[in-house]
Amino acid sequence: MRLKDEMYMQLGVAPELITIANEVENSLNERFLMIDEVAEYNQLKVLRAMQKNRVSEMHFHGSSGYGYNDDGRDTLEQIYADVFGAESALVRPQITCGTHALYTALASQLRPGDELLSPVGLPYDTLQEVIGIRESNGSLAEYGITYAQVDLLPDGEFDYEGIKNVINERTKMVTIQRSKGYSSRPTLSVKRIGELISFIKEIKSDVICMVDNCYGEFVETIEPTEVGADMIVGSLIKNPGGGLAPCGGYIAGTKECVDRAAFRLCSPGLGKEVGANLGVNQAFYQGFFLAPTVTAGALKSAVFAAALYERLGFSVYPDSKVSRHDIIQAVTLGSAKGLIAFCQGIQAAAPVDSYVSPEPWAMPGYDSDVIMAAGAFVQGSSIELSADGPLREPYNVYFQGGLTWYHGRYGIVLSAQKLLEAGLISM
Ligand SMILES: *Cc1c(COP(=O)(O)O)cnc(C)c1O
Repeated sequence: MRLKDEMYMQLGVAPELITIANEVENSLNERFLMIDEVAEYNQLKVLRAMQKNRVSEMHFHGSSGYGYNDDGRDTLEQIYADVFGAESALVRPQITCGTHALYTALASQLRPGDELLSPVGLPYDTLQEVIGIRESNGSLAEYGITYAQVDLLPDGEFDYEGIKNVINERTKMVTIQRSKGYSSRPTLSVKRIGELISFIKEIKSDVICMVDNCYGEFVETIEPTEVGADMIVGSLIKNPGGGLAPCGGYIAGTKECVDRAAFRLCSPGLGKEVGANLGVNQAFYQGFFLAPTVTAGALKSAVFAAALYERLGFSVYPDSKVSRHDIIQAVTLGSAKGLIAFCQGIQAAAPVDSYVSPEPWAMPGYDSDVIMAAGAFVQGSSIELSADGPLREPYNVYFQGGLTWYHGRYGIVLSAQKLLEAGLISM
């Protein structure tokens, strides 16, 4: 018996489950090599940008007040731009979360009378209130911005005919969500996003194409800005913050788009010139440096979860074989008991708050109870190991993150151990 197996046993995992987990891991060797290869490439990409921009210790100093001449902030933004193949970027602690970054990007480009189009179906929950799909105080709809949507075809392909028909002279902007989020459609590869953008720009060349890049950064070797997106947008407590950023969001893209976003975030006339970094710079730099490795760990955890739960007889989405374009893994547990047990295993594996037990609760904005497991260093960080799901048929759990592959592996094994203890699986 290997030393690590003994440790797993001491941590309360059944010997049969340890054996199965080892077999599953061995079957993924080739897959993991490919993930490492992407991570190594992206690591070099980040290093090249940091060297080109002559990062030095002085860039880590905090700034206060207006934040004029904050060289650390400005240099980091150029590094993001370089790594993402963009002209410019806005990377700020004043962007409070992913939704705020997306709202800023949308509201900065759209004017009354314009139309926003989603050619990939219904956007992420929180964006529905931003746009006004669900009525909300301050939505884009209140400012006279209309919204059009074309769903994906049943086979997951783009509805090119439908998209062509809906584009009109008011279509100013397109929003494309890369990750499936909590829907059941496939996540989009950067290549497919590029094809969609080319198609749209052929019909109307001045449409601004924005990609919601949440959970997608560093999963592939290119980002949507390298295939025609005018803007990509994401959260720093997901992939690009590398687990170290304590808050924040980013918008990267053409200089024109990013400047407009900065005027919207701060104020017309001020834009990128203001915004104190309040001491977060070192975490932002170091987090971005670690992000390719951290994302690789999260990806390995997702693939391992898929393969282990397939082996245990559950249906998983995506399956363990397909190529990945984000870090989210869904497992259909089929019962409330199963969903709760899974989340309790993830929680019990956490470095923080491992002694608490998550319970379902009625979260605002959801139509059924929701259970969430997270024991994170940064509140709500979902690049850290986390899982959640609504308590309704078919009892899907959505699992993501893991700052290290070893922690991700342990969390998934412990989730299966909880299912075993609840009598929901046998070996
Ligand atoms: C997380 C996420 C968001 C919003 O992010 P918050 O930081 O939770 O506001 C938007 N879109 C997608 C696809 C996401 O995964």
